[in-house]
Parts: sequence; structure tokens; C-alpha cells
Amino acid sequence: MADTIFKKIINKEIPAEIVFESDSILAFRDINPKAPTHILIIPKIEIPTVRELSGKEHGPLLGEMIDAANIIAKQEGISEDGFRLVINCGEKGGQEVYHLHMHLLGGRQMTWPAG
Ligand code: 5GP
Repeated sequence: MADTIFKKIINKEIPAEIVFESDSILAFRDINPKAPTHILIIPKIEIPTVRELSGKEHGPLLGEMIDAANIIAKQEGISEDGFRLVINCGEKGGQEVYHLHMHLLGGRQMTWPAG
């Protein structure tokens, strides 16, 4: 199967504005931001969607993604005002890139329900 665009970013084959990196996590600015701060937090291992996740197997990795979100929110100065974390899953969930990713959105008032 062809590499996803995010796999190419992990491999540094295409550029991205990286804001956080650890052994297991990469985070970079969304190319088409939907808010003043819009960061994508991804695991370096390939997991296509939330459907392939289990708490038992991936709990520590998901915890690292949340830790990364908190670190980045502080870095970006949006932690105190608040922010939104989103994971789209599958076609009706609005997922476009089939490499698990969490959106970190902030810097403006979010509305609900999401579109
Ligand atoms: P999804 O709709 O799958 O939840 O979100 C995919 C996100 O990836 C979109 O917000 C889109 O703007 C972003 N994106 C797609 N291609 C690229 C790229 O090449 N670089 C970066 N930085 N973001 C991308």
C-alpha cells in the first residue's frame, strides 16, 4: 500500500512545520488551518483509524498523545483559554488521511455541534 502523506512527513520525505517530537509521537501544523492554532498530533507507528485502537494495547500511546497536546497547548499559549481535541474516524467521521491523528485546535471560540 502507498505511504500516506503523514508517513512521508514522519520519514522527512516532505516538509512540515514540526512543533513537537518524541520517540513515538510527531506533531506539526496543519497545512490548511481551521483555527489560529491547528496542530496534528500523530503516532509514528502506522495505525489507520480509531477502529484499530484498543485501550489495552494502545493506552500508553494515547496517553502520550494527550501529554503532547497539553505540552503543545502551553507552547502555543492556548492552554488557559481552552482548546479542542478532535479525532475523525472513517468516511462519515470526515477522516481524509488514514494515519491516526488528533487535531489540536485553539485560538478562537469553538462552536458546537461540530459540522
Ligand atoms: P482528517 O480530515 O483526516 O481528520 O484531517 C487531515 C488533516 O490533514 C486536514 O486538516 C488537512 O488539512 C491536513 N493535511 C493534509 N495534507 C497535509 C500535508 O501535506 N501537510 C500538513 N501539514 N497537513 C496536511
